[in-house]
Amino acid sequence: MLDEIKIGFEIHEQLATRTKLFCNCSTNYRDSDPNSNICEICTGQPGAKPMAVNREALEGAITIAMMLGCEIKREIIFLRKHYDYPDLPNGYQRTSTPVGVNGELAGVKIWEVHLEEDPGKYDPITGKVDYNRCGVPLIEIVTAPDIRSPEQAREFLRELMKIFDYSNKTRKEGGTMRVDVNISISNQARVEIKNINSIKGVYKALKYEIMRQKNLIKRGLKIRRETRAFIEDQMITKPMRLKEYAEDYRYIPDPDVLPIKITEEFLEKIKKKLPETPKEKEKKLMLKYNLPEDVARVIASEYELAKVYEEVAKHVDARFAAYWIKDELKRVLEYNDLTFTQSGIKVEHLVELLKMIRNEEITAKVGKKIIEKMINNKKSPREIAKEHGLLNVISDENIVQKIVLEVINEHKKAVQDYLSGKKEAVNYLIGQVMKKTRGRVKPQIVLKYLNQYLKR
Ligand SMILES: [Zn+2]
Repeated sequence: MLDEIKIGFEIHEQLATRTKLFCNCSTNYRDSDPNSNICEICTGQPGAKPMAVNREALEGAITIAMMLGCEIKREIIFLRKHYDYPDLPNGYQRTSTPVGVNGELAGVKIWEVHLEEDPGKYDPITGKVDYNRCGVPLIEIVTAPDIRSPEQAREFLRELMKIFDYSNKTRKEGGTMRVDVNISISNQARVEIKNINSIKGVYKALKYEIMRQKNLIKRGLKIRRETRAFIEDQMITKPMRLKEYAEDYRYIPDPDVLPIKITEEFLEKIKKKLPETPKEKEKKLMLKYNLPEDVARVIASEYELAKVYEEVAKHVDARFAAYWIKDELKRVLEYNDLTFTQSGIKVEHLVELLKMIRNEEITAKVGKKIIEKMINNKKSPREIAKEHGLLNVISDENIVQKIVLEVINEHKKAVQDYLSGKKEAVNYLIGQVMKKTRGRVKPQIVLKYLNQYLKR
């Protein structure tokens, strides 16, 4: 088909293990001095032999492969993938034959899931190398070129991030994902864009690349098979090298690593502990709490958030809590660019806040103000409410009446507007009453008195 876009991925993410894939060095390369977590194995010293493969890493890769619906292979062999770069002291990277094959996620076929070693870090400007990251276990996920647009690519990656989150097998600190994207248009040559480290970056790189390739095709030029780099600050891609072929890597089985047999027993053990997928959680929430799909989807978007919701629903009306979390809590999290886990909000505080709203101790409006102040705050919502004088709904209607009258007298222009037919002026007046009462009065009561007085 003309102009048909085909996009596929190779996604790399670090597995959360204490030690490296073939040695006992710590995987903590972020808060350690350069070259402090290294040994003769992960720096490829002559004669050094790898230890047996890290079981935790193997279990992590199989768990994720299972969650992606893959068929698990019973024998895994480690291959040496040769290339020359200063961050790779061995001169090759160990990468496994597929751990799992033929999975599916969000309508995209998962071809293969592999286990491999991360290289070190090389700074081409200073020429310094830090080997701490050498040998940290990575999972690699290879998809079919089933994706048809940058938007679908973004959606797929978001779903994959959710799987990682639910699996609890990848590193939590984030920023460790690296994506290689391949794209071809109208059956022209396939172009690969290497090492993009965010979903946003993938989206921008694809947008640029589609435009670039379509322009070339329009001018009757051929697309070269090549590897390009995404230059994030300029939002463009640049040629790196002509695309290498698999044979360039001279893959050979690593003679130092024995083939790994995956036993039925080992698989059963993993299956027993297999976490729910985000989709399964979504369906469960819909059924158990009678939630609409869009609400369940938002709550299931983060493992920790779904867990917290189920806890909250034990104490507060489940539907009320669900909508509140979807609309208000999510709004505050998104505004602050935080996940629920990062927000530091305690589940008991959330329960307390929702109960205060349900018991009409505070209005919904005040509740929204309080949740904004609950981010990384040790104080309970009741303490926050007290501190800001937000406690107690003004239920004495005489007081409400008095305030409404004050507002009418102070905002004659709005009253005139209202009387001359601008009905929306009433919202302004409600707003003024809310301001005076710091939101501690129910809008319905304000409206009742406003209507009474404005009719006179
Ligand atoms: Zn080591």
